[in-house]
Amino acid sequence: MEDRPNVYDFSLDEWVEWLRQRGEPAFRARQLYRHLYVHLTTDPAAMTDWPVRLREKLAAETQWGVLQPTARVEGDRGWTRKVAWALPQGHPLETVLMVYPDRATVCVSSQSGCPMQCVFCATGKLGFLHDCSPGEMIEQVIWAAREVRQMAAAPGATHPDHLTNVVFMGMGEPFNNFEAWWQAVERLHDPNGFNLGARNFTVSTVGLVPGIERLAAQSLPVNLAISLHAADDDLRSAMMPVNKRYPIAALMAAARAYTEKTRRRVSFEYVLLHEQNDTPAQADQLADWLRPPAGRPLLAHVNLIPWNPVPGTPLSRSSRRRVDDFKAILQARGVPCTVRIERGVDIAAACGQLAGPAASS
Ligand code: SAH
Repeated sequence: MEDRPNVYDFSLDEWVEWLRQRGEPAFRARQLYRHLYVHLTTDPAAMTDWPVRLREKLAAETQWGVLQPTARVEGDRGWTRKVAWALPQGHPLETVLMVYPDRATVCVSSQSGCPMQCVFCATGKLGFLHDCSPGEMIEQVIWAAREVRQMAAAPGATHPDHLTNVVFMGMGEPFNNFEAWWQAVERLHDPNGFNLGARNFTVSTVGLVPGIERLAAQSLPVNLAISLHAADDDLRSAMMPVNKRYPIAALMAAARAYTEKTRRRVSFEYVLLHEQNDTPAQADQLADWLRPPAGRPLLAHVNLIPWNPVPGTPLSRSSRRRVDDFKAILQARGVPCTVRIERGVDIAAACGQLAGPAASS
């Protein structure tokens, strides 16, 4: 319907070229970049360091964002905020902002829907709908950055006034949309613009081995989280179809190669489902993978996530006690492990609950 490009889809070099074609000097690109990524300007009319005619041309020839907000919810007394968007084709997307006294994290969607079909996740129920462009991911981050800045301006606010972390843990599988995802990371990292440090990004993958290998070869040291969720292949394949293609041994080999190449720790996410994957036997097997009795330990950390309810699934969440028991077994085996602090469960904004309005009706 619209063929004007999204301003967030242009790199600095592409802006230089866009301006050159219109007879404008390259320094204008830097000015524009500062407006978009430092001042978080969303209206070209506010760019008063540009001649009016050029501002008008920019407004006429580009779109300042393509995501249409369709719903907005606040939870945890306003410290968690979820926005639901419609993409230009109408597909749903969701973004979650989590503010803490010392940090502010945005959880970004990389696809609308998801092709991976994990049985416990709400997003998978939508099927795959759309690969986000870099701009569609960046726009979610800019929304959150503006939101944090505005919250911090309120009287008595003590939390950070800028985003400190970007996690690609929303809808979709980032490594299934690697090219666009990596462009979004590089753009947000660019010191001429948003300037977020590489270690302030985290990507979570369902376990696509080629993606892990590709990430290991990149120069920016972003954090890697791997959704493991089970310690033996039968159970993991039943929960996550991807395991039939990349079974646990292959995944562990890729994780090990990654830590050896980058000298960075990986995180394993482990969603706990009552009497499925939360048994002592699974905990022991998990410890065997990460602390092999006759091998070198893997540089890894386990993030235990009590499962968040997804309507229409016959699953249930592990009790606090079973979570603690599972954790105790890992710790006794020397595996570093934490239980993820929950945010947004009351507004269906927590891990695995992002499904857009279509699935919640
Ligand atoms: N596709 C990527 C990114 C999604 S991140 C991945 O699989 O890692 C979302 C995280 O929440 C993943 O670890 C996912 O497995 C987990 N998750 C999915 N459904 C959940 C649920 N209902 N409760 C808690 N965590 C869930």
